Amino acid sequence: MQTFHELEQTQSVIATILRNSLQTNRINHAYIFTGDYEPLLLEAAQLFAKSLFCERRDQIEPCQVCRSCRRMDSGNLVDYYQIEPDGATIKKEQIQQLMHDLSLRGLEGDRQIYVVTQSHKMTPQAANSLLKFFEEPGAGKVAILITNQPQLLLPTIRSRGQLLSFRPADRLLIGQVLSEKTGRDNELTQLAARVYPKIEDAEQALVEDWFVNARVSVVQLMEELANRPADLPLFVQEKWMSQFKNRQDARIGLELVTCFFEDVLHLKLNPSWETITYANSRPLLEQMGGKSQTTITRWLQAVLAAVKRIEANVNPQLTVERLMFDLQKG
Ligand SMILES: [Zn+2]
Repeated sequence: MQTFHELEQTQSVIATILRNSLQTNRINHAYIFTGDYEPLLLEAAQLFAKSLFCERRDQIEPCQVCRSCRRMDSGNLVDYYQIEPDGATIKKEQIQQLMHDLSLRGLEGDRQIYVVTQSHKMTPQAANSLLKFFEEPGAGKVAILITNQPQLLLPTIRSRGQLLSFRPADRLLIGQVLSEKTGRDNELTQLAARVYPKIEDAEQALVEDWFVNARVSVVQLMEELANRPADLPLFVQEKWMSQFKNRQDARIGLELVTCFFEDVLHLKLNPSWETITYANSRPLLEQMGGKSQTTITRWLQAVLAAVKRIEANVNPQLTVERLMFDLQKG
């Protein structure tokens, strides 16, 4: 993301707030960027920093060609600092080192910007060190804390920063990014992006064979439903329960089924629908689309109800058995 114009396409509120800050030159000393997709938050933070450092800023957009813009692009801008977890946590020593570096004053200008990625991973000691600094930040210093779990930040930290909540990222886009990162096929990455709320979990799932097999089981279940509905209970007993053992797995399995029914419905309502998730199962989707819209909607409602039961701690096996009964009724 190189421009605010780009940011505005998906995050208009955030873009407007940052635009106002830049235009009025009222820059806070601490921001908290929160949203479900950290890479996007980091890109937005870097864009904001680039504009703040730019020597020939046009309104709010960085010029992209001045010395600061070029240094920002190459990661060589000395007054821009970025820290990330060292292992599982961000440690007190890391924050202290950062504070020490910042205390050496702006090396090139009167502004210093530091970004803390996955800031919820600060240890309590690290957070307390940062907090002390927040209380007396000094002129020209801007903190941007990035997190997808703002509830884990110390309340005292949260209350001192301006919280900017990004809209959920576009799952289609995330699927593409995951596909590039993991080398898995597009259908699988789209599914992972849809059923895992957290991107890290989706990425983790994609490197494991379990998720590949989960998709296979879902398609098999749908084939049973389409061709041999009377055999559904047997299939669940012999195959489904061994794939989706615990509550978390059961939820993922049912979310995958939800995606399938959504595809069936989309194709039924609009045969030229492009963005189906189970693209490799198109013949089966079309076959099931031969059912009435009422039946498909009932299927969808039944599986959504099952997801709710799982979340309400009902036994997964009972939940799935009841779902099969509901699906058979059609
Ligand atoms: Zn510039």
